[in-house]
Amino acid sequence: MIIGSRIHFLRQTVSTMDECRSLARTGSIEGTVVLANFQCAGRGRFQRIWLSPSGENIQASILVRPKITELPYLNMAAALAASNAATEITGLHSAIKWPNDVELAGKKLCGILIESEISGAGVDFAIIGIGLNVNLEPERHKEIKNSASSLKQFCGRYVSRSQTFHVLLKHLNHYYERIKAGESLTSEWASKLNMLGCDIQISFPGTNKPSINCRADSLNEDGSLSVRVDDGSMFTATAGEVTLRS
Ligand code: ATP
Repeated sequence: MIIGSRIHFLRQTVSTMDECRSLARTGSIEGTVVLANFQCAGRGRFQRIWLSPSGENIQASILVRPKITELPYLNMAAALAASNAATEITGLHSAIKWPNDVELAGKKLCGILIESEISGAGVDFAIIGIGLNVNLEPERHKEIKNSASSLKQFCGRYVSRSQTFHVLLKHLNHYYERIKAGESLTSEWASKLNMLGCDIQISFPGTNKPSINCRADSLNEDGSLSVRVDDGSMFTATAGEVTLRS
């Protein structure tokens, strides 16, 4: 098993992503996991805040050392692993919202953040960040009460974080080994996406570019999304630059 070859458990940290990055830079082996009971400054894409009360959820960062051609599949592996782990533990079926969320009934169950360091033509390392809401009670948090979900909320009982974590690592390892074997995860990932064919709006955080109203048309092998703009033209959206609303 590659993923989980070493597990660092932290009671509290600023960010598991930052801890994992330090370990990566000092030569930690592939598959090293940083798991925290609480992080004071969890983040999502575009430096957005990831909120997670102490002791309720899983926040983990996983160090991998992929080839550059394997990078696009990391996000897919994480989303598929989180979705399958949720089903194995609770029987619940989730969907993937492009590009990086796992949802239950349209509400975010899991956020994924991939950060990588590249030098020359190679990847030094990549970090897969996973925030999975296990026992979160969304109604207690005004910022996310209408947009977040958790396993407990949907299955109506307390869910073991440690069991969920080990099942999550098992699934992530499965997908990572498939990536290493040269397999594409795109079609399996695409089969769980919930937005294809729907009218959406994409915006470009941190820029002055205006939002675009469009229809989600199809997925490309690298996970980018082709959309048909209302004026008839096509546009390719990549995870690094857009946010999507239905
Ligand atoms: P969007 O898909 O809405 O553009 P995103 O996928 O880019 O968002 P992420 O980077 O995955 O967002 O996560 C950050 C956002 O997730 C925050 O802005 C907040 O709205 C929401 N959020 C923060 N904490 C949680 C949580 N525990 N559960 C669900 N959603 C959360």
